[in-house]
Amino acid sequence: MKRVYLDNNATTKLDPIVKVKMQPFFEDLYGNPNSLHQYGIEVRPYLNEAMGYMYDALNAPNSDDILITSCATESNNTVLKGVFFKHILTNPSKNHIITSAVEHPSVLETLHFLQEHGVEVTFVDVDQYGYVSAQKIAAAITDKTILISMMWANNETGMIFPVDEVSKIAQERGVLFHTDAVQAIGKVKVDLTKTSVDYLTFSAHKFHGPKGIGGLYVKKGCELPNLLHGGEQMGGYRAGTLNVAYIIGMGLAMKQSVGHLDKMNSDVRALRDRLEDAISQLPDTIVVGDRARRTPNTILISLRGIEGESMLWDLNRAGIAASTGSACASESLHANPVMSAIGEDSELAHTAIRLSLSRFTTADEIDYTIDIFTKAAERLRSISSTYAYTNEVG
Ligand code: PLP
Repeated sequence: MKRVYLDNNATTKLDPIVKVKMQPFFEDLYGNPNSLHQYGIEVRPYLNEAMGYMYDALNAPNSDDILITSCATESNNTVLKGVFFKHILTNPSKNHIITSAVEHPSVLETLHFLQEHGVEVTFVDVDQYGYVSAQKIAAAITDKTILISMMWANNETGMIFPVDEVSKIAQERGVLFHTDAVQAIGKVKVDLTKTSVDYLTFSAHKFHGPKGIGGLYVKKGCELPNLLHGGEQMGGYRAGTLNVAYIIGMGLAMKQSVGHLDKMNSDVRALRDRLEDAISQLPDTIVVGDRARRTPNTILISLRGIEGESMLWDLNRAGIAASTGSACASESLHANPVMSAIGEDSELAHTAIRLSLSRFTTADEIDYTIDIFTKAAERLRSISSTYAYTNEVG
């Protein structure tokens, strides 16, 4: 059966070049880079090369730090809990954190946990397009605010948030600024000489690197206490033997995906637009957020009267992988949290389907998806109208 993968905001396929680059580190080059013998010594240049790729891709000064973590969830936890331990515990008069209502659960749940420990959190609402305004963030700042944590781009809608503006506001007001850039790397330009952030989160498996490895950029002077204590790895800031193969994979994957930024914003954007133009013609559909402000690969579409899960299964039967929201959220049948936050009624909140492309998506796959999606929408509509009719007469 034909298979089409349109769930690239959940995870991406490993770039074949990255796989080849990682292979020797599962075989001969298995030394621990912290060992003093030859096995350790010989892997270090490769690690340095991979770290260099990441500094270059983000345009981050070498004087700043990139901490390697196990995933973006760990990076987000490190920032939020680190700010709590370093700043809030020592100075409780500064115990306020601002975030958006549509952050990933690794931010929202960590902040709910910190609320139980006395931290005040403002969750700034998004508008009907799923956009958070810099003015609303600015208006939430008080004398007690220590940190703003706002994602660069949303995983569900693809909406790109006003990171430049918020970073300037944070700087002017003396507030720390963290951005979860998981959905931004390789899709929008992330240049840390142009956008001043204190902390930035990323995750390799969202840009064709391996799963289970991520990073946290930390600006010089903004160092945080460890989340993981133990050995002296990562300059003493994160204990645990380095996952050499995965770090090497992440470095090359980031270099590759940032190198394909133009392709993403031309070819992939054109394919996304073609798909969106076709499926948004179907009756009673709503696409969330205007295209120009979205990442070039993402569509979140709602089909009134059709259960998102039913659509997902029809697509899946035809070999097409989509999502009803974030992979974490779709395990439960709860309303899509982003749709709820942007104020859609509960019926729509259950019907959102996310389609997310990658630079490996082909035109043929998009044509096939348009065909299957159209037929599935017609089939499911006919079932729901028969059902409504039966209910009316019955
Ligand atoms: N932040 C955002 C915006 C995400 O989309 C995700 C994954 O869906 C994460 C964080 C968590 O990433 P990881 O799987 O690396 O923990």
